[in-house]
Amino acid sequence: MARPYNFCGGPATLPESVLKQASQGLFDYQGRGYSVLEMSHRSGVYDEIYQETKAGLRSLMAVPDDYDILFLQGGATLQFSMVPLNLMKPENGSADFVTTGVWAEKAAAEARRFGTVREIASSKDQNHTAFPNLETLAVNPNADYLHITTNNTIYGTRMHSALPTTAIPIVADASSHILAEPLDVSRYGVIYAGAQKNIGIAGMAVVMIKQELIGKARKETPVLLDYGIHAAKKSAYNTPPVFAVYMAGLVFKWAQALGGVSALHELNLAKAKLLYDFLDGSSLFFPLVQGPSRSLTNVTFRMHREDRADAFHEEATARGLLNLKGHRSVGGMRVSLYNAMPLEGVQALVAFLKEFEAKI
Ligand SMILES: *Cc1c(COP(=O)(O)O)cnc(C)c1O
Repeated sequence: MARPYNFCGGPATLPESVLKQASQGLFDYQGRGYSVLEMSHRSGVYDEIYQETKAGLRSLMAVPDDYDILFLQGGATLQFSMVPLNLMKPENGSADFVTTGVWAEKAAAEARRFGTVREIASSKDQNHTAFPNLETLAVNPNADYLHITTNNTIYGTRMHSALPTTAIPIVADASSHILAEPLDVSRYGVIYAGAQKNIGIAGMAVVMIKQELIGKARKETPVLLDYGIHAAKKSAYNTPPVFAVYMAGLVFKWAQALGGVSALHELNLAKAKLLYDFLDGSSLFFPLVQGPSRSLTNVTFRMHREDRADAFHEEATARGLLNLKGHRSVGGMRVSLYNAMPLEGVQALVAFLKEFEAKI
């Protein structure tokens, strides 16, 4: 049976070749007779997987030498808490936030438990359908960091301007577009991402952090939330998510073989253009985001005939085009075009949208 095209926002589709390799490793890792799921995280075999995974990401994103790469549990959401615990001063700590959607608001709410949060830009008054220009923002020079959600998974917007000029560390939640387009790691103090969108499977977050920011957690910080502990223990203070690290390693090798982030970016531009061009010319469907704010990885749209929504999703599913429903807070449709979605998937989707439109 042909695999359906899965446009889910996350957990998301994975490259077929990676799934095949993983199914081998799931049963018998490289002829050793045991599964990746069964291996000791203190073994040399796991250490090799860990080192390769880390090196894979360092190479793909050109992560500078003075940055550490951590593989942590708790998803992107735990980073909402870990960032303030580790980066905010214990006395009079504060952070500036750009709030461009639900995830950014959740991150801000968590930071507010530990210090003062100042919202310096927001897209709320536009229902988060446009990403504010950040270039000219006045960032508080005394804040401990500036937090930006660089791609908004639910609304389909992305940061498109240059970063503001500031000497304080910039923290990015890049969960839904990491590895989909170039990101200059050296401009950030911390970049974090849940793995289940563009890196691998649920159960892990990747954190790239400048070394000078490590080891400064406030003293009441629980041990497992301290970047310093994870950095010192090579992300294995306790049992790490072994299979998730292994999966990320396979995805990184797959991405490298395709030509790395710049090649994937080209492909993602082509995929997104195909869909946005269709939506812009459609008489039935209309995109929710205009101009440079448009995300390459999450495309949101609606249709003029909401009464046909159930039929739309039913027919799409029957055609092997899965998970086109928008996030429950936005409604309509959302199509996630992460790296593992081939161009053929978008072509099949657009063909279906055209047919559906012609019938109405
Ligand atoms: C999915 C997502 C999250 C939440 O990720 P979890 O791994 O489920 O905690 C946070 N931020 C962004 C931008 C996301 O897309």
